[in-house]
Order: sequence, then structure tokens, then C-alpha cells
Amino acid sequence: MKKNRLGNTKLSVSPVAFGVLTVGNTQLNLPVAEGAALIKYAISKGINFFDTAQYYETYPYLKEALKDVDMSADAPGRPIICTKSLGLSYEEMEYAVEEALRDMDLEVIDIFLLHEIRQAPDWNMRKGAWQCLMDYKQKGVIRYIGISTHHVDAVEKMAQVPECDIVFPLINYAGLGIRKGSGAGTADEMAAAIKKCAGAGKGIFAMKAFGGGNLTGNYRKALDYVSSLPGIDSIMVGIGKREEIDRLAEYAEGTLPADYQPDISKKKIHIDPGDCEGCGTCVHRCPNQAIFMNEKRGIAEVNHDICLTCGYCAPVCPVRAIIMW
Ligand code: SF4
Ligand code: SF4
Repeated sequence: MKKNRLGNTKLSVSPVAFGVLTVGNTQLNLPVAEGAALIKYAISKGINFFDTAQYYETYPYLKEALKDVDMSADAPGRPIICTKSLGLSYEEMEYAVEEALRDMDLEVIDIFLLHEIRQAPDWNMRKGAWQCLMDYKQKGVIRYIGISTHHVDAVEKMAQVPECDIVFPLINYAGLGIRKGSGAGTADEMAAAIKKCAGAGKGIFAMKAFGGGNLTGNYRKALDYVSSLPGIDSIMVGIGKREEIDRLAEYAEGTLPADYQPDISKKKIHIDPGDCEGCGTCVHRCPNQAIFMNEKRGIAEVNHDICLTCGYCAPVCPVRAIIMW
């Protein structure tokens, strides 16, 4: 599989990449050996780029998958690992970096991001965490630093931050989950911000090309849209099966059958408890009364017995907490 240079970094990444969140305990909860086998299979197919996070609790899968791989900093052609943390302070981020090194058994981390930067106040609140990432980069423990975000404003801001090497934004053709200010943003607005960042030399890889599973039925359209955007070096996709790796590899190599249509009949709607803010919008949107508020937990939940997987609830969620898989 061909590789793309990630912005101005020295990293070359596959145009499609493996989001490891899917295999972990908030989604498929695969046994470690099974998830690790999937990662190894992806590597065998030419996918060399993997995204995880402190919050995902998926480091054991990567550790197991990479235990026989030379992951020393200068090993040629080794997989590229990105992780991230929600840490606010210097100390929280330092803990997150040390934890990632230890739990993935790495001596250097290719990319470490501030996870989920929202608007300007959030960036300002996390200055301590950012300073920590800059210090670890200076020490050579982290190679490149940046942010992940759903916000147009944050992507635009990063174009002006010289220390930021990498931006990991949310984008899909339907604009699902894109935020701007305190409201919704559009795909066009995010695409323009991405272009600006790419012009400033940032490496950019995209998340949620399939809109949290809600656009998977338009598989090729979803991937074509994101991969055609100026500045996108790779598309990070949550993967849980070998078949998904095969199709993505075929897509990247231009051999995906023209009539390929994934079977989405067994997919279910899920609400990520870590993301749900309990606003209740989805409860009112569901035409089947299949979503209810769990008052004790302060979050929405789905009654799968009556959910028709129509997907109407997902676009109204302001934080993209509703996913289909
Ligand atoms: S997918 Fe449709 S039926 Fe199911 S919870 Fe969402 S809106 Fe309700
Ligand atoms: S719309 Fe999103 S944030 Fe609001 S309750 Fe539903 S899942 Fe939670």
C-alpha cells in the first residue's frame, strides 16, 4: 500500500488507518489476543497507522500486537502509533505519557495529542498539558504533538500554533458531529479549516468519515469525500473485523469492487457513556421512544428491543455520542 507523508513530519502513513477504540471494552470488548491478531492482520495488509487513547483502555491490544516488532525509534518501516489524553494539567499529561510508554512497552511515541479540544477556553485551560507534551517532545520521547477535535474553531486555531505538528479532526460528507462555536458546523467549514492547517504544514488525519457508522451504507461515497479533501493524509477508521480491513485495503489500493455494499443489517445504535452529556435531545427525536434518560447516570440509553436502527437520533446529538456498529 502506498504511504502519505504526514504534513511536515518525517512520518509516512497508510491512507487508511486503524482506530483501535472499536476492539476495546467500550465497544466490541474483544479478548486481547483477538484484538492483537486483528492489528497484526492490518499490518500484514499494509496498514501502518494506529490510533488509540488513554481513555480507550486499548493499550494491551497494541502491546500484544507489537511485542515481536522492532519498535525502536529508528527501525525502518515500523508501525506508527498515535495516542492522546484528556489530561488538563501538566501532571495529568505527564502521567498519561508515562502510562502510554509503559503499557504499550514503547521507548518512543510517534504522536501524542490533546484529546478532544473544544473551543478556545478549553485550549487555554489545557496549557499545562500542552507544555508537558512540548517538554516530552524536546526530550525525544514523543516525536510529534497536536490535538484531536470535533470543532472547526480548534482546527482553525491550530493553523496558527507553530508547535502543533498534527491535527486529527472530525469530518464526513454529511457534517455529522461537526461543531462550531457553541452550535453545529458544516462539512464545508471543517474542510476549509483543514485546508488552512494543511497549508501551515500540519499533518492531518480524519476521524468519523462514516459518521459513527451512520454513513457506512454509503461506503464509497463516505471514503471518497474525505480522501479527496485537500490536506487529508490518512483516514482513521474504527475496525473490528478482518473483512473491514480487507475492504479498506482494497479501497486504498483502488481494487474495491465498484458495487461493494457493506451489510449493515446487524448494526445497532449505541450511546457512548463517556461522550453523552445528558441533554435529552435524542430522546425527543426518536420516533419510537427507544431512547430514555437514565436519570441515575445522567445519560441517555437505548432500548434495543424497540429500536428500529433508523438512525434519526444520531444527527441531533451535539457531541456525536450516538454511534452505529
Ligand atoms: S435509531 Fe431510530 S429507533 Fe433507534 S433510537 Fe435512534 S431514532 Fe430511535
Ligand atoms: S443527544 Fe447526545 S448528548 Fe444529548 S442525551 Fe442524547 S446521546 Fe446524550
